[in-house]
Amino acid sequence: MAEQKAKAAVLAAVKGMNDILPPSVPRTDRLPDSALWQWFETTVRSVLGRYGYQYLLTPIVEPTALFVRGLGEVTDIVEKEMYSFVDSMNGDKLTLRPEATAGIVRAMIEHNALYNGPLRIWTLGPMFRHERPQKGRYRQFHQLDVEALGFAGPDVDAEMILMARALWRELGLVEGRHVRLELNSLGQPEERRAHREALVRYFEQHADALDADSKRRLHSNPLRILDSKNEAMQALIEAAPKLMDFLGADSLAHFDAVRAMLDAVGLEYRVNPRLVRGMDYYNLTVFEWVTDQLGSQGTVCGGGRYDGLIEQLGGKPAPAVGFGLGIERLLLLIQELGLPVPGAAPHAYAVVPPGTPLPQVVAALEALRAAGVSVLQHAGGKDGPGSMKSQFKRADASGARYALVFGETELAQGMVAVKPLRGEGEQVLRPLAAPTGWAAELLRA
Ligand code: ATP
Ligand code: MG
Repeated sequence: MAEQKAKAAVLAAVKGMNDILPPSVPRTDRLPDSALWQWFETTVRSVLGRYGYQYLLTPIVEPTALFVRGLGEVTDIVEKEMYSFVDSMNGDKLTLRPEATAGIVRAMIEHNALYNGPLRIWTLGPMFRHERPQKGRYRQFHQLDVEALGFAGPDVDAEMILMARALWRELGLVEGRHVRLELNSLGQPEERRAHREALVRYFEQHADALDADSKRRLHSNPLRILDSKNEAMQALIEAAPKLMDFLGADSLAHFDAVRAMLDAVGLEYRVNPRLVRGMDYYNLTVFEWVTDQLGSQGTVCGGGRYDGLIEQLGGKPAPAVGFGLGIERLLLLIQELGLPVPGAAPHAYAVVPPGTPLPQVVAALEALRAAGVSVLQHAGGKDGPGSMKSQFKRADASGARYALVFGETELAQGMVAVKPLRGEGEQVLRPLAAPTGWAAELLRA
């Protein structure tokens, strides 16, 4: 009895982890559909290809030690957001990747990938963080992740930022209006150390004004206090010593060089001295692309330089820079703004009246598809294809521009009727024997 009950219970997705569904499946939570998703992926491939970035994939599961060593023991992610588990087969400590950079660096070290020179690479896929699910924040979410390894100069920092801008433009987002760039320099470790000491001294002097979280961080990770979202602490944070005042000549020159390249293409940005980022591995340039449209989940894309990470993970020292882009957030933004998105509708829908000899239909559709036309065939159930009325209803709902009607009289003449479903135009007859001759008509917008 109990067993029967368990069988009948409906299983649901894990909290904070979402299905990405085709547009024809209605959903109540307004999450982006798979058509939007595919359009994003196609655009990414095109834009990143223009900058010469190569695609790679790394495993979703990595040794836990990789993230502890890579991200820093006292970062939010490592402290409280990782899905870590013990492999029951062999006792290995494993973690579902919370971000992509550490895994990519691990792979590059393992394959000695920088042996022949620097690399530009990107990947895309799910990341996992145990956070409180809300709009724009999930436990399984997806990132586009871009990395340039082995480049020390400020030019590649600017390239990263401009590549993101090119992506916005291609997707219809306007920089300055829909997304804004925030920029900062974190300098080098020794400069950060001096700043950190000044910061600790300052916050110690104002210990009464610190909240519990900040008190805990005061000696473990005082920089993170600057990232506090607590309203009551903002004035105190605003007046704290600024890292920018501790940067040496080289760090300032690197920052100025990045800025000069952004200025040269007229990209506007705000220097935000409080921009620190959540991982410990960053140095020099850090940046975020932010929006005002998504509430407190306003960072769409964040990244920066991490010159020390490769060595920290056991590789030969090499500089690097990269960014991660939250795909759900970006697509929510595009949806929220109501930007035009190319449809996923087929060119044509094949209406097959009951009794039509299917082999002839199938042969014609195959020839059309080989010529590049997307055609949805009205496929029937056990009792045949259904009434003409219901078929035309489906044809309309598919968004197709044309219906191909395989009627008895037309077939008898070796023809198919091409009926426009949208806008102007007359129904015409086309020869079944030579579909490649008229396929182009269906492809025209
Ligand atoms: P936040 O401050 O919003 O928590 P973060 O600094 O933790 O972001 P990163 O680790 O830099 O984010 O990840 C890069 C991008 O991935 C973010 O800018 C965001 O767009 C997206 N992202 C991060 N965490 C989540 C999440 N839990 N759900 C959805 N998207 C996320
Ligand atoms: Mg976070």
